[in-house]
Amino acid sequence: MNNDSLVLFYLIDGARPDVMKRLMDEGRLPNISREVVEPGVFRTASSCFTSTTGPAYLPFLLGCFPGTVGIPGIRWLDKKEFAGKRFGKNRLRSYNGIEGPWFNSDLPTDRSTLHELFDNSRNIYSMITRSLGADRNLTKNTKLFSYLTAHLNDEWHEVDAAGHEKLMMSLDDRPDFIFAVFPAVDSFSHIHDPFDDDTIQAYINADGYIGEAVAKLKRQDRWQNTLLIISSDHGLTSTHTHLDLAGFFSQRGLSTLRYPLIFKNKPNVSVMISGNAMGHVYLHDIIPDRPLYGSEVYDSMGSLLRELVEMPEIDFLAWRESDRIFSVEGSCGRALVIRTANDFTYLPETGDPLGLGETSQSLSQMESLEATIDSEYPDALVQIAQIFLSSRTGDILVTSKNGYDLRDSWEWPEHHGTHGSLSREHMIVPFIMNRNDWMNRATRTADFFPSILKWAGRKVPNNIDGVSLV
Ligand SMILES: [Zn+2]
Repeated sequence: MNNDSLVLFYLIDGARPDVMKRLMDEGRLPNISREVVEPGVFRTASSCFTSTTGPAYLPFLLGCFPGTVGIPGIRWLDKKEFAGKRFGKNRLRSYNGIEGPWFNSDLPTDRSTLHELFDNSRNIYSMITRSLGADRNLTKNTKLFSYLTAHLNDEWHEVDAAGHEKLMMSLDDRPDFIFAVFPAVDSFSHIHDPFDDDTIQAYINADGYIGEAVAKLKRQDRWQNTLLIISSDHGLTSTHTHLDLAGFFSQRGLSTLRYPLIFKNKPNVSVMISGNAMGHVYLHDIIPDRPLYGSEVYDSMGSLLRELVEMPEIDFLAWRESDRIFSVEGSCGRALVIRTANDFTYLPETGDPLGLGETSQSLSQMESLEATIDSEYPDALVQIAQIFLSSRTGDILVTSKNGYDLRDSWEWPEHHGTHGSLSREHMIVPFIMNRNDWMNRATRTADFFPSILKWAGRKVPNNIDGVSLV
């Protein structure tokens, strides 16, 4: 690439590809249609587990899955730290509040972000801002106030508009990489519905902003050297019923820790929800200082797990049998996900909760994606294996079915949209780009990271999960 090239990455947080396709067919996203899709492509990609704002930004900006880098949820607990210390920073976390800035110090120091691998990058609204000062993290001083105001007033269009203004001004400095988030689709989807008028308007506004940015790049004579990608961290589904997963345990007499009630002495159980369709459940009684395996899980919780898995709200539970074998149990029965070196196998035992049938031979990481990309659980084998790489992942993972979520009390205002699970509608995101010369194959959002670096003629780190399309 010539040294005036620009990578402009728009993350429309929570954007559903089917909604974008429909709006495009109706002529309501004219700029994206004309300037990006016409010369380029409209494909889809598979996100990561948990498909939640924050953890699901990691594949884009670090090329890694959440479990690989030890951030397996927007809330998590570290059993070893929790058992060993009464106080201390790394016992548990919720990035959804005052601990949010710790997202950056929680990132492993041996992995680089795209911001660190480019020379003159800009960030708008993403939480991954390590090593960026206010001159490059353009919303550093305004994000907290504008998000809080928007949350209280239910007015997110202004947040997208303010981010766009900052982006437009920053183009004068000729940055080489911009990561810009539009948060309004996600926020309106949660508060109203993923298909609500305000949510749809947020897509249309984003189209207008992208059109203005493209026009300015043309005036600057930079457009032909610009790689523009539009994607999302997850989809969203409408929510009609909440199951309070933490309440499930406390109603059965177990002392249960959850955010924001985290100052509980010697809880039996902790519940950390993401998205809100995925929950980590940590069992503190039998072995407090490490994750549980196989029979240890059922010895602690067998009857409650059987009760939980039969509930109409629950999709499946998953836990470790060993560091390489994971059980997945739904109401139809149990299957194993087995990881051997870099290969993956799915073995239904008493049932087929992921609906994949038996994978007769072990599959490579890429074959696993290809075999599952069109299923109801895209990339399920790799994603279940990766999240259990982290010791911060719960003893039990719980997911809710579409239409339900796992957090009721302490969620204000009430959520009417959900993501976070492995379900297709949460996992599949748009992959829109103004070029058509990249490999056309099943794609993970982690693949953008090496592809962007290669396109820009930069060195690709080798400690990543993504594989280049370039
Ligand atoms: Zn999000």
